[in-house]
Amino acid sequence: MSADCIFCRIINRELDADVVYSDDQVVAFKDINPAAPVHILIVPRKHIPSLLDMEKEDEMLIGHLHMVANELARAFKIDKRGYRIVINCGPDAGQIVFHLHLHLLGGRPLLQTIAKGKEV
Ligand code: 5GP
Ligand code: ZN
Repeated sequence: MSADCIFCRIINRELDADVVYSDDQVVAFKDINPAAPVHILIVPRKHIPSLLDMEKEDEMLIGHLHMVANELARAFKIDKRGYRIVINCGPDAGQIVFHLHLHLLGGRPLLQTIAKGKEV
């Protein structure tokens, strides 16, 4: 938990979010500024600032985030047509929230590069 982290505050229910999945390790909620019809953020409860900060002990957790992404892709019916997982790491990738998260994007053709949830 980091007191000034927006995602920690969502996880702790101090801030509202449209939560679509939750378990003992992960919370997933809709992106406030969606770049696609389905745009869900999959966030570990553990405050890891970025992918670069992951530790050996986080390997299983990062795998679990992807399992949850697949489960949500099925639940939101984007599994057949396809979807994209994005992790922005650091300033050049456009990371703005420094609490590790996967973007799950789908519901339309994603033909271009997506950075920061926006197409470039
Ligand atoms: P990043 O660029 O760090 O990978 O992406 C952060 C994402 O978090 C952005 O797509 C942004 O729209 C989303 N976001 C930022 N603040 C909030 C918030 O308070 N609630 C929700 N649901 N999403 C947020
Ligand atoms: Zn955090």
